[in-house]
Amino acid sequence: MKYVDEFRDPSQAKKILKEIDILCSQIKLTEDRPIQIMEVCGGHTHSIFRYGLNQLLPEKLEFVHGPGCPVCVLPRSVVDNCIRIAKHDDVIFTTFGDAMRVPGSKQSLLDLKAEGADIRMVYSPLDALTIAQENPDKRVVFFGLGFETTMPSTALSIMQAKKQGINNFYLFCNHITIIPTIKAVLDSPGMRIDGFLGPGHVSLIIGTNPYDFIADDYHKPLVAAGFEPLDILQSVWMILKQLKNGEAKIENQYQRLVHKDGNASALAPIQEVFELRDFFEWRGLGSINHSGIKINDNYADFDAEVEFKLKEVTVTDPDICQCGEVLKGILKPWECKVFGKECTPETPLGALMVSTEGACSAQYSYGQNIDLINTK
Ligand code: SF4
Repeated sequence: MKYVDEFRDPSQAKKILKEIDILCSQIKLTEDRPIQIMEVCGGHTHSIFRYGLNQLLPEKLEFVHGPGCPVCVLPRSVVDNCIRIAKHDDVIFTTFGDAMRVPGSKQSLLDLKAEGADIRMVYSPLDALTIAQENPDKRVVFFGLGFETTMPSTALSIMQAKKQGINNFYLFCNHITIIPTIKAVLDSPGMRIDGFLGPGHVSLIIGTNPYDFIADDYHKPLVAAGFEPLDILQSVWMILKQLKNGEAKIENQYQRLVHKDGNASALAPIQEVFELRDFFEWRGLGSINHSGIKINDNYADFDAEVEFKLKEVTVTDPDICQCGEVLKGILKPWECKVFGKECTPETPLGALMVSTEGACSAQYSYGQNIDLINTK
């Protein structure tokens, strides 16, 4: 297939759905509950809701929306630290757009911007580096977040700053790494996931080899998947086929982009600039060992945590928020008490309602939309 329309072809979708139906009826392992497939990545969550795939699948099969939306797992304490940095008169604080709306314990970056702080939305860390060059009398801070997908560009901008001797550019590093995160999900008490849709973009960087432990140690299938409807349906079919045959393998549906060894050019800057934190706090999931990334000592001059003497504090979500239960797959987004009432994309109480990749936002926006593949 070459063109995007082909990846959304309803006739092909119908064929795969029929085979999915047959496989589901043949799988015996989950007689008293649905087969659960976790889509790790928020991009998949968005596609599943956007194309109504969850409504097209048999009742015996359900998606569990995983922790792979970096904005959604951003804890309040991190937003509070962003606010602390951005309040300095000599700071220009730069970030991706979604992060500006995530609620902290008192306000979001967007609220602070409305009060007059110099907070700017950028499309890349290199945009932030340019702002630093153009404003030598200011300290310019880039808020780095995301999984391995966004780490290479952040690392390269720090390397570039060092090479060019730019001494007013800092990174507030909140990147996270996927493998310990999936391991934490697998180790959760009561974990019932039968298989994983592997994150396509992250897999493009790290490859599929790092997932081997999921099959070897936990005996669960994972299929690295693309983001179009047929990509996702084919990946689900591949997982079900393994389950039916009693297999647990790591497979790659997204072969047009993902290779088992990953992308060496993208991994090199990550290894040059970053190292693992001992632990990192996730919204709704608590602390996960070795899941966070920080700047290593060779690049400490660019570390905003050092420059602004930030402390790590834990700030819990308000009791009314049930983001944690949704992130762990215990509740569906619409089962949260405040879904669509106090919490909407315009007035998000929890981070899952902020990003378009968040399960609550995707459900709110596309919950009933099955226009693009109307096969039922
Ligand atoms: S509706 Fe809001 S508070 Fe409830 S889980 Fe979703 S984002 Fe969190």
